[in-house]
Amino acid sequence: MAGLYVHIPFCESRCVYCGFYSTILSALRGRYVEAMCKEMELRKDECPEPMETVYLGGGTPSVLSGPELDSLFLYINKVFLKGGDTRSLEITMECNPDDICKAGFRLPPMVNRVSMGAQTFADERLRFLRRRHTSGQVGTAVRRLRDMGIGNISVDLMFGFPQETLADLNHNLDEILRLGVEHISAYSLMYEEGTPLYRMREQGKIEDIDEELSLRMYDTLILRLEEAGFEQYEISNFARPGFRSRHNSSYWSRVPYVGIGAAAHSFNGRDIRSWNVADIRQYVASIEKGECPSEAETLDEDTQYDDLITTSMRMREGLDIRALKPKYKEYLLKRSKRFLDSRLLQLDGHRLHLTRAGLYISDSIMSELMW
Ligand code: SF4
Repeated sequence: MAGLYVHIPFCESRCVYCGFYSTILSALRGRYVEAMCKEMELRKDECPEPMETVYLGGGTPSVLSGPELDSLFLYINKVFLKGGDTRSLEITMECNPDDICKAGFRLPPMVNRVSMGAQTFADERLRFLRRRHTSGQVGTAVRRLRDMGIGNISVDLMFGFPQETLADLNHNLDEILRLGVEHISAYSLMYEEGTPLYRMREQGKIEDIDEELSLRMYDTLILRLEEAGFEQYEISNFARPGFRSRHNSSYWSRVPYVGIGAAAHSFNGRDIRSWNVADIRQYVASIEKGECPSEAETLDEDTQYDDLITTSMRMREGLDIRALKPKYKEYLLKRSKRFLDSRLLQLDGHRLHLTRAGLYISDSIMSELMW
């Protein structure tokens, strides 16, 4: 089992918090799509295992035209899916709600899951974030996707905005639950260096919310989504039964994946990680010459152990300690002791996982468990 990630780095405008590799310059879009098709051909033998999931992320994949998406899927199907039956695969496309609401919007026929960023249902906050959609468009987009036959929809929500209150969060939760979607990803607002949001905070124009309030928000989120029938299967991800994201779960379970496009990362499932250059011009020029513009690193055993901690401990099931060599198992159990004693970690049989209390300080626990 393996996954395919395809990176579409184009956006119509930039959101203030965005730290992803994306651009508003669309001049190279046609050549970029052709280059991605060529990259797939160049790397066709890289992953011998069958692809179980395909994920078009960005950027904003929904800014691509119908013909551009058709040619991408032609190659995805031919090169990596070998023209087989795709109905049992999970094929996700990230879309912006405003794109879905445009007249004439259509999804490539193979797509069976859509991931959409709602972020908040307060229009003034959407404007502050410089999102292009309005809160009303999220509901319209969900209805349009249902009409198109999409039975698996994921919506992203953010919390912890400057001056946000618990009542604001509860309103957002009411709205997101009214959508009736199958999957919700919820993240606290991050201030990534280099973003306009980060600069605003540096200049004192906005303030981080209080840490205690942020924890209460996370707690509220978990309680309300669980009450509504969602399972928290990962620190930031909630799904109705049977609707976990198979693609993202494969990242956390260290399944091999191939990343196509500028800035896309790949992993062989064992010890090699590679990444394409994060520059569209260089990417296109290199692929047009028949060369993959990527760098790779071989992970030593200690790094593989650290990666296992930071991926599998994010999952509800945690880490199967039988997968570790004796030296790492012994180290992990020793480092875990005080967290087990204070009920921040739990060992069920062979599985070591965070407890509900441990979720709130997952980053510091994971860093303590690392080599
Ligand atoms: S739409 Fe997504 S990728 Fe594009 S700027 Fe906004 S957050 Fe970044």
